[in-house]
Amino acid sequence: MIEKPADRHWNLPDHARARAHFDWAEVRAGLAGLPGGGLNIGWEALDRHVADGNGARLALRWLGKDGAVRDYTYAQLLAEAQRFACVLERLGVGPGECVAVLAGRIPELYIAALGALRAGIVLCPLFSAFGPEPVHTRLEKSHARVLVTTVTLYQRKIAALRDTLPALDTVLTVGGDCPGTFRFEALMAQAETGCPVAATGPDSPALLHYTSGTTGSPKGALHVHGAVAAHAWSGRAVLDLRPGDVYWCTADPGWVTGISYGLIAPLVNGVTMIIDEAEFDAQRWYRILDEQQVSIWYTAPTAIRMLMKLGDAPMAGRTLPALRLMASVGEPLNPEAVLWGQRVFGQPFHDTWWQTETGAIMVANYGSEPVAPGSMGRPLPGIDAAIVHRRRDGGLDFLPDGEAGELAIRAGWPSMFRAYLDEPERYASCFADGWYLSGDRAQRDADGRYWFVGRADDVIKTSGHLIGPFEVESVLLEHPAVAEAGVIGKPDPWAGELIKAFVALKPGHTGDDALRKSLIAHARTRLGPAVAPRELGFVDSLPKTRSGKILRRLLKARELGLPEGDLSTLEGHES
Ligand code: ATP
Ligand code: MG
Repeated sequence: MIEKPADRHWNLPDHARARAHFDWAEVRAGLAGLPGGGLNIGWEALDRHVADGNGARLALRWLGKDGAVRDYTYAQLLAEAQRFACVLERLGVGPGECVAVLAGRIPELYIAALGALRAGIVLCPLFSAFGPEPVHTRLEKSHARVLVTTVTLYQRKIAALRDTLPALDTVLTVGGDCPGTFRFEALMAQAETGCPVAATGPDSPALLHYTSGTTGSPKGALHVHGAVAAHAWSGRAVLDLRPGDVYWCTADPGWVTGISYGLIAPLVNGVTMIIDEAEFDAQRWYRILDEQQVSIWYTAPTAIRMLMKLGDAPMAGRTLPALRLMASVGEPLNPEAVLWGQRVFGQPFHDTWWQTETGAIMVANYGSEPVAPGSMGRPLPGIDAAIVHRRRDGGLDFLPDGEAGELAIRAGWPSMFRAYLDEPERYASCFADGWYLSGDRAQRDADGRYWFVGRADDVIKTSGHLIGPFEVESVLLEHPAVAEAGVIGKPDPWAGELIKAFVALKPGHTGDDALRKSLIAHARTRLGPAVAPRELGFVDSLPKTRSGKILRRLLKARELGLPEGDLSTLEGHES
């Protein structure tokens, strides 16, 4: 257990008390709301701060790849978002229709996103590193009428397929003139500010997010403006956001984290957010944390493991006195990574669990509480979680502490997804007895902490035991030679499945037989022979989704010589 210094002040000083007294109505009452009623994410993110006299506060600091810096105050960002809303109005795009954005982390993307939300138009973010095929599939499914992108991305990924996207009538390109498109900057220059906000309400559609595609084809999850209550509250309670903070969320806005916590939660909570255009670079990241005096840092296990791979040296000489809280999401956070944070930064990473479907953080570790490395923490006040087993008749059994089952959330929280695009049956099948079933397996301990076991699809059945790959991977990661590990079940006539591990090594280590034996021995000592891997292979790197998650389904397909399935979400895969 990692204890915390007692002298700190936190937005959520007492989790149990907050849970006991929690009421979403109070969170909603704390939102500005639209004049005359209604609710709009863009309004909560921008207009309310300007109306409160905080228009001059820095909202967004953009760090360009090449060293350029662009700052936007809340008032400037509002003016730009209004301009973009005016552009959409002139194009005849109305509330409920869809605008897609496909761009790297450039200010125009954030402006377009906020403008669309403010205009009541559904925003569909697309990840800019996707190849033409996955972009096409998502654009086609979403029926987007407008796409905001860059000249380069348009030419590389859209132009050739444009004729096959009948719903897409307008493309706006940033960064130059391009046949078949309008120049973003030119339309913005002609547009006015002062565009009124759309009369949206809590149930109006706001966002269409595609899932990462870790377990199969990505799903389109639809979210509503009412989700902003969950963004506001979780930003405050979990990320401890307050005016004056410099906040850095490293997730790309092509994914739900990059919008919920890389755009909405920080602005709604009135902080300054850092947007870094560049790709991951350890030295650059340490420099940003230091020079920008980041106070809250929200990142992902894959990035943390990349930092760990380089050892502690890059942090040498830095103290980062402004850094108050570090948090993580996207994959299970191995205990080793939490302990590494404590050693190198003097504080643990705080794991948080949620999904595209949940729209906001559901289970988390809190600044005010000790951290049990390896635990996802406790449910957010306002969220009811349970460990359940779905019976054959469709009903639920609620499992006691210590038993692994499916992690479920009581339906009805503000950021709950409202549909899977074009898949009503799939949507319906996620719910039973008033609970949402996440598809992840977990267990709860006697202190109410949740521990991730594995995705339902990844669980391994070996010699009568049910084993989650995460536990085995975490133990392998304790070994000083291991940078990353992925564990799968391989069919075996005796055991049902045997446990096979794939291991990527840190620089300076060689994957030979001696190391293999030493890793298996380490796992046997820590886990016992039934749970330790029986086979272990070395790989240069593990296959990952573009959002950085280990793709165990692909490790398994490759091992068994099975078809590899939908690879459009695979890192490094250009289709
Ligand atoms: P798909 O649903 O298309 O297979 P995906 O589930 O990876 O992809 P996301 O919604 O981006 O798509 O990711 C949510 C999932 O990521 C969770 O269901 C869980 O499996 C994993 N995850 C996220 N945060 C954590 C965490 N803190 N601990 C363990 N797993 C996590
Ligand atoms: Mg999922």
